[in-house]
Amino acid sequence: MRLWIKNPIAILADGAENGVVVEDGVIIELVAAGQQPMLPVEQTFDASSHVIIPGLVNTHHHFFQTMTRAHPQAINKELFPWLQALYPIWAKNVTPESFRLGTRLALTELLMSGCTTAADHHYLFPAGLEGAMDIQVEEAQRLGIRMTVSRGSMNLSEKDGGLPPDAVVQDEDTILADCERVLQKYHDPSDGAFIQVALSPCAPFTVTKNLMRQSVTLAEKYDCRLHTHLGETLDEDDYCEHHFQCRPVDYLEECGWLNERVWLAHGIHFNDDEIRKLGHHCVGVCHCPTSNMVLASGQCRTKELEAAGSPVGLGVDGSASNDNSNLMEGVRHALMINRLTYDAASVTHFDAFRWATEGSARCLGRTDIGAIRVGMQADMAFYRLDDLRFSGGGDPLATLVLCGAHEADRVMIAGDWKVEDCLPTHMDVGKLRFEHGEAAKKFLEAL
Ligand code: ZN
Repeated sequence: MRLWIKNPIAILADGAENGVVVEDGVIIELVAAGQQPMLPVEQTFDASSHVIIPGLVNTHHHFFQTMTRAHPQAINKELFPWLQALYPIWAKNVTPESFRLGTRLALTELLMSGCTTAADHHYLFPAGLEGAMDIQVEEAQRLGIRMTVSRGSMNLSEKDGGLPPDAVVQDEDTILADCERVLQKYHDPSDGAFIQVALSPCAPFTVTKNLMRQSVTLAEKYDCRLHTHLGETLDEDDYCEHHFQCRPVDYLEECGWLNERVWLAHGIHFNDDEIRKLGHHCVGVCHCPTSNMVLASGQCRTKELEAAGSPVGLGVDGSASNDNSNLMEGVRHALMINRLTYDAASVTHFDAFRWATEGSARCLGRTDIGAIRVGMQADMAFYRLDDLRFSGGGDPLATLVLCGAHEADRVMIAGDWKVEDCLPTHMDVGKLRFEHGEAAKKFLEAL
């Protein structure tokens, strides 16, 4: 079935003013202004009420944290005390059931905001949650969203000088065995993949050097991406100085992590030399503007990183430090926070869109998503401009960002509609809201 999506108000693509033609889940033609498709089409979709952008790509999240949004014991804290307040709450309450609902909620929110590919960094494995990665794959498949399942890990607890309590860490052999199991079972490196696997030791203060190195070996064996938190806070700098007698990027280098498989979450506190080094090795950085503001972590040097050669993507980050999963809102926040660092002309809505689409796709090592071009997967988000907030908006693409678009009217993934009339085609949102809300109440009970 060849489908012509015709006559959009605006589209974030060159030479596609009169829409795109989709066949077998792939974009096969861009239709320029005043033109018709070259090949005959069987179906048309009238997009004259829509602004179309490439499906957004989220490169950092912690889905389970949707259970502890605005948690009274964690609000108004910075990263380390925030984590120390939440670890025991998560350790006690994250079960397969609550984890499944947290995953379902985060994925659904992302999708409804216009996200078509999501990476989740899951690093918490209390007893009973050994099947976390399987749950995430099932939920992504149920919704029809693409996902990079990022098998996280923590093996350095308080007793060994790390930050997390014993109850949420695993030993190295258990971690590596499960990483290999998940890679063998789910990792699909091919174009158009719906599920890919990345390996993601949590952070310098939660894993051992040896686990970092072993993760590189596995990633090379299975040709997958590597991910971790780095450069998020000055506390992390102090931790590295104290425990490793070096800065976080030096630590990364010692672990064999300066290579193009790697994308980092946050990447805030890098000096000029470190930015040059990361760029030289094409290490990607996921900018998390909302979370960085909530936790008062600082501002990622996005422009310098890109200029040095690093792909820069966008992430909402975990839902205890955002506290939602709306990537379109993240695009707006990225524009705004970056204007506090750079001048207005240097950071435009096109920059913010690029981070959330092509930049994020590069972080995930994908060349088949992140842009509306011939040969790319047909992943697109469609927004209407009917709400009061858009009335009077001039430039349609700038209107989406500056007036605060936050829900897609339609979302297409691999040529199939996954959101119609602002609702997911494969999810009962009311039922999900109720079930998730009930499960989250347990996380408020006293320890
Ligand atoms: Zn994070």
